[in-house]
Amino acid sequence: MSEDAMREPRPTGHQADEAEQRVRSAVKDCVHCGFCLPACPTYSLWGEEMDSPRGRIHLVSQLLDGAPLTPATAGHFDRCLGCMACMTACPSGVQYDQIIEAARDWTEAGVNPLAGAGAGGGVPASVAGGGVGDGGSVGGDGGDGGIRSEAAGGGIGEVGGADGSGEDGGDGGGGEVGRGVGSRGVGAGAGGVGGGAVKRERTAPRPLADRLTREAIFALFPYPRRLRVATAPLRLAQRTGADRLLARTGLVGRVSPAAEQALRLAPASRPVPPGRLPERVAALGTRRAVVGMLTGCVQSVFFPGVNAATARVLAAEGCDVIIPRSQGCCGALSLHSGRVAEAAHFARQTIAAFEAAGVDAIVVNSAGCGSAMKEYERLFAGLAEEGGADEEATATASPALPGQLEAGSWTVRAALLSSRVRDLSEFLDALGPVAARRPVPVVAAYHDACHLGHAQGITAQPRSLLHAIPELELVELRDPGVCCGSAGVYNLLQPDAASALGARKADSVAASGAPLLISANPGCTLQISAALASQGVTIRTAHIAEVLDASINGVPLA
Ligand code: SF4
Ligand code: SF4
Repeated sequence: MSEDAMREPRPTGHQADEAEQRVRSAVKDCVHCGFCLPACPTYSLWGEEMDSPRGRIHLVSQLLDGAPLTPATAGHFDRCLGCMACMTACPSGVQYDQIIEAARDWTEAGVNPLAGAGAGGGVPASVAGGGVGDGGSVGGDGGDGGIRSEAAGGGIGEVGGADGSGEDGGDGGGGEVGRGVGSRGVGAGAGGVGGGAVKRERTAPRPLADRLTREAIFALFPYPRRLRVATAPLRLAQRTGADRLLARTGLVGRVSPAAEQALRLAPASRPVPPGRLPERVAALGTRRAVVGMLTGCVQSVFFPGVNAATARVLAAEGCDVIIPRSQGCCGALSLHSGRVAEAAHFARQTIAAFEAAGVDAIVVNSAGCGSAMKEYERLFAGLAEEGGADEEATATASPALPGQLEAGSWTVRAALLSSRVRDLSEFLDALGPVAARRPVPVVAAYHDACHLGHAQGITAQPRSLLHAIPELELVELRDPGVCCGSAGVYNLLQPDAASALGARKADSVAASGAPLLISANPGCTLQISAALASQGVTIRTAHIAEVLDASINGVPLA
């Protein structure tokens, strides 16, 4: 991706205010009851308040009050899986997803843009007058409590011009703004008018090695072609057994724990369906719907058979399946890691690809991707619009006429797309079956992917589809809803925590006695398979699409 494409505007003043209000309001909803603590996997691992949902909410609250973003704080955010089990557990409906997304965005950018917004916003006494903070992106209203950013009393953040109206509003210097100006701001209400160059104080809350690992991961995983090329030697090593020899030397782990973890997680080569999926798979029998299908990055590279099974099942249930060639990464990994600009870039491509396809619904067979695509609206609502698109005109355009949306605002286009995204099991359950089911005589356990169960609230539909398969006996895991440690790229970045959670899940799967584990997320399948293998347990894994394909189309499970 070009640098230009990645240069996403930070929120403008109005949008930053809205974003701040959203996060502040979500934080305020927390009544500190602690009901979420037992549901939180990281709290269960370490028993640390700051590694619990309540603790992380407290840290965000402190940042909003002007506290600096330290490596320790960033570490607590980074150790959050983003599993959203806390949202399911919270009786107060705290929108933790919005809170952690903001925290990740600040951590990734190395700034706390909200805490630094504007001059004289009122701060803890320890900060007032000290001229610290990191220079907000907007000049804000002057508050009455002194200074909370280096912009105060000395000029502005990135965008000046907001009127400081409080008694201690900065006086908007016109020159370069460096670090804190060390006074309580002079003048009343003139904050943020300077026009000189701005040095935003950035922090480096993550160690260099961690940042480099992240860059490597995000230069690879969202690009199926690169991922395919990069994993080709691995497949060769698997065939010759060289991967096991390499693992035994411990060499890879000494160079990069993330690479060692990737080696551990890489699935054994499975038979790959011949050729690419066609752009259109015709419905069998009477057509009931026209759907688009997301092929995904990890899914298409490591589990192409799942995509083929998904298309066959949808066609058998009377759907024309459109698989746009122009689709790429949906941005899920980036979005869930706080890489907002990158996520928006991928989201735009995805929106454009499926608009052009003119489909009734977009069916997604990867829980993390579906969850991210349902969040597109919020993603764009928090970003500056580009190009002055006519949002109102677009809002009145018929969603049935995709061409009319070309000129529309990304927020509106994103909302339309998000409203059409369906997880495979969600879609099939609502559509109802027409294809006959053959028996699949097996005892199977179903694993709830967090981005399906907690983030999308989809737990009943996959079970309902599986219960409808003759002779398939479904058993429950003893810890449904507890994260397996996969969590996007968490298992690469936090290998120890991920391994501990993976081992717990593997114990639970083994204890179920089921010889088959069904999941709806490729990351979970990789994670649990690796954990089972490291315990010497052999249990087959399958995606729910493959199980349905076996029942509907008679394709044997691998
Ligand atoms: S997030 Fe919800 S459950 Fe957790 S402490 Fe806050 S209010 Fe209680
Ligand atoms: S998202 Fe998961 S790991 Fe993070 S605080 Fe909530 S329950 Fe804990």
